[in-house]
Amino acid sequence: MKVLFLAHTEADGSLGKSACEALGAAKGLGGELTVGLYGAEVQKAADQIAGCGAAKFLGVAGADFATARYGSDASACEAMAKAAGAEVIVMPSTARASRVAAGVAMRLGAAIDTRLTGLEAAGGTITATRWFYRQRMVGRIERDARPWLVTVDSGCFTPVEAAGSASVELLSVAVATRTTVTGVKSPAADAQTIRPEAGLLLVAGAGWGKSQADGQKHVDEAAQLILGFLGATQCSLGSSKSLVDQSGEGAALPFLTHMHQVGQTGATPRHPKGLATCCHGEEPHVVGWRFIGERRAVNLDASCGWAQGKADVLYVADAFAVMKKLGELLR
Ligand SMILES: Cc1cc2nc3c(=O)[nH]c(=O)nc-3n(C[C@H](O)[C@H](O)[C@H](O)COP(=O)(O)OP(=O)(O)OC[C@H]3O[C@@H](n4cnc5c(N)ncnc54)[C@H](O)[C@@H]3O)c2cc1C
Repeated sequence: MKVLFLAHTEADGSLGKSACEALGAAKGLGGELTVGLYGAEVQKAADQIAGCGAAKFLGVAGADFATARYGSDASACEAMAKAAGAEVIVMPSTARASRVAAGVAMRLGAAIDTRLTGLEAAGGTITATRWFYRQRMVGRIERDARPWLVTVDSGCFTPVEAAGSASVELLSVAVATRTTVTGVKSPAADAQTIRPEAGLLLVAGAGWGKSQADGQKHVDEAAQLILGFLGATQCSLGSSKSLVDQSGEGAALPFLTHMHQVGQTGATPRHPKGLATCCHGEEPHVVGWRFIGERRAVNLDASCGWAQGKADVLYVADAFAVMKKLGELLR
C-alpha cells in the first residue's frame, strides 16, 4: 500500500504540530510511506521529520506556495499525489489543508473523509473513525475506493519527531490562477481567544453577568478578570450557551461569540484541562466536555450540575474572588 503524507509548511518553514500528528497517523498505517510538502520552502520541514521512515520526500516550493491560495495549493497537492502514485493520502485538518482537500480529491478521482479521529490498518483493511451529529455518535468507516484522501483531527495521534537530513525531490508545478495574495490581515494574537492547542480551557458561564451578593452586576470586572487570566495563561476561552446568547445581544461580555460556545449545540474541544466558572454544568453544556481530560468548576451552588459527578473537583466559592486571587498569584 502506497501512503502519502501531504502537508503545508508554516511561515517559518517548519512543520506544525497538527502536521506532525497527521504524519503519525500516516505512519501508523504501515505500507510504503512518501512525504509530500508544500510551502515557501520545504527543506527545514523535511529535515524535521527526516527519520520518519519515508521512502521518498517530495516537495513543491517557492513564493507561489508561501501562503494559502486555493489554485496553487490544490495544484501542488495534486502533483505530489500523482507523483507518489498514492493509494491513501493523509493530510492534517488545518484550515489551509481543509480548504483544498475536497478539490484535490475531485482532481484525483479519490474518495474523501475529513476530520478523522482514528485511522488503523489490520489485515489489509483500513478503518477510519470519525464523529457525527456534533460528536454524539462515533462512526467507523471502511472503503474499497482508492485513492482515498483523509484529513485527520489534531490531538488524536502521536506527533512524529525525527530530525535529521532529508533529500527532497522538488517537483515543478505551473500555477495558473487569477488570485494574487497581497497580504494577510489577522487579529492580534491576544485578540484570538479560541486556542485549540492550549493546555487549559477556561469556560465562562452566565453567572458572570448576574447580580452578585451586593445586588449589583459586575460585568466590567468579570471581563477584566477573564481577559487577565487569558493573557497570563494563554489558555483558550469557552462559554456556556446562555452567556454567548446574552453577549450576542450586547448584554454581557463583548468578546464572546457563538464560536466560543461549548456543548451539545456548540464545540467539543480537546484540552487536557478545563475550568468552568459561573456555569451551572447542565447536561447540554457538559456534553461538550467529553474530551476534556481533567474537569474543575467554581460555583457558588454546592448542588450545581458539576457536583452531580460531572467535574473531578468542584470549588464551592465565589468565582470573582477565586479568579482575582488566581490573577494575583499568576502576576
Ligand atoms: C437543545 C438544547 C441544546 C443546548 N445546547 C447547549 C450548548 O451547546 N451549550 C450550553 O452551554 N448550553 C446549551 N444548552 C443550554 C443549557 O441547558 C443551559 O441552559 C446553559 O448551559 C446554562 O448556562 P449557564 O450554566 O452559564 O447559566 P445558568 O444556568 O444561569 O448558571 C449560572 C451559574 O452561575 C453560578 N454563579 C453565579 N454567580 C457566581 C459567582 N459569583 N461565583 C460562582 N458561581 C456563580 C450560579 O450558581 C449558576 O449555577 C442547550 C439547551 C437545549 C435545550
